[in-house]
Amino acid sequence: MDIADKLEILADAAKYDVACTSSGIDRDAQKGKLGNTLAAGICHSFSADGRCITLLKVLMTNVCVYDCAYCVNRCSNEIARAAFKPRELADLTIGFYRRNYVEGLFLSSGVIKSPDYTTELMIETLEILRFEHAFRGYIHAKAVPGTSPELVDQLGHLADRMSVNMELPSQKSLQLLAPEKNKQNILAPMKQIKENIAEDKDTRAIMRKCTTYMAESKPKKKTRAFVPAGQSTQMIIGATPESDYHILNLSASLYRTLSLKRVFFSAYLPVNDDRRLPSADAIELNREHRLYQADWLLRFYRFDVNEIIDEEHPFLDPMLDPKANWAINNLDRFPVEVNTASYEMLLRVPGIGVRGAKSIMRARKRSTLREPELRKLGIAYKRARYFITCNGSYGGTGADFSREGLRAQLAAPIKGGSHGRRADKAIPGQLSLFEQTEVPKPKIMRPQEYRTLHEPPAVTNDPLAASLPEWFGASASAQLRGPARPSREKVLIGTCA
Ligand code: SF4
Repeated sequence: MDIADKLEILADAAKYDVACTSSGIDRDAQKGKLGNTLAAGICHSFSADGRCITLLKVLMTNVCVYDCAYCVNRCSNEIARAAFKPRELADLTIGFYRRNYVEGLFLSSGVIKSPDYTTELMIETLEILRFEHAFRGYIHAKAVPGTSPELVDQLGHLADRMSVNMELPSQKSLQLLAPEKNKQNILAPMKQIKENIAEDKDTRAIMRKCTTYMAESKPKKKTRAFVPAGQSTQMIIGATPESDYHILNLSASLYRTLSLKRVFFSAYLPVNDDRRLPSADAIELNREHRLYQADWLLRFYRFDVNEIIDEEHPFLDPMLDPKANWAINNLDRFPVEVNTASYEMLLRVPGIGVRGAKSIMRARKRSTLREPELRKLGIAYKRARYFITCNGSYGGTGADFSREGLRAQLAAPIKGGSHGRRADKAIPGQLSLFEQTEVPKPKIMRPQEYRTLHEPPAVTNDPLAASLPEWFGASASAQLRGPARPSREKVLIGTCA
């Protein structure tokens, strides 16, 4: 099997993994080394089926000894199998990087032989990239649950971000759908990564401060930082009966206790026929979307889980975003005056985001804010107007200021976005990594056409024309020879445009 075939199989097998995002770390280019990383550098393009194409997203192998019910790569499925050799994958990544196809590598894997053996292959690949190719670009590596701590540590010093998939939101579900995995095997590497990151940061901070003492003990060769972009995880939603309340509480505790950068939610997609799994109509992409909105409120808007959702209503409202839902359930706190409200309160107004709240805080020092100023600051005034006053004037007239009245104004089904798995087409002009372009074949000319094109220039009756040297200038020659004919080369290029 050649590398292109392997790539096709292993990139396709990796498309169900959603955990990749902005790189989160800065690393400058260095002379003699290849590439750099920008904190916001890995922005994504998605192909029509949701594959992220800015990172080379592949599996080391789709051979797997486990049999997780929801996974296309499980050992009981009869599918084409392939495995990269470490050098093949490293060279492929560098080839793509140099051609500007990708900004980094997202490497996951099925479990071949054992978690340790799989991780060793991944380590070998990353060592070739980092040490032989001196690659300084972004690498996200998956830690396979059950890998021994020494290998997790080794992998962490080569990757920028690591993730261990939670897979499912509870131990019971894990037992049902992924019986070879268990909570302990998943949480142990997550804890280790958290501790190693903290330890690594502390050591580096001490080394920066104690310049005199460390000058002697500093190792000559700089060791790579351990997972400088932090860790993330992913869980499948909708395959098992856990509620949004359960999932959001779990996410909040992961952020709190394991300092995760992101928890990714992956709506269950049926790829296997298995009686333990729900039917195909259980796909809940909209639920995934609402969970991401709630997750955003936890991480950036200073919300607590209990403010977003409660045990009595354990699922997020599919018709209303969680922030608007909170606002209409707390109408006694609205409307707020944008010229005097606290930053925390501005953050809670539907239609005002983090950047908007900061802009308002700055702008109102200089002038009184009214509707036109808010619009200029990029506030979604159409939504915000029901919850604010601008210099005493309320903009939400026409709607009943009640829970039902405002719900009627704000509730709307989720529209398919222009990216990710909701995309029904790629952004115009962009091609996905595996997309074929239709290049029209060059026009094949008949002999007569070819002769016409290459016949000697028409000679005018002007006696001077024959004696004009070529270098005299194209315009002068053209005037005498008649209109210029396109060269053969131009004709061919023209057909490809
Ligand atoms: S261990 Fe990973 S690759 Fe293997 S079957 Fe389970 S989810 Fe799929």
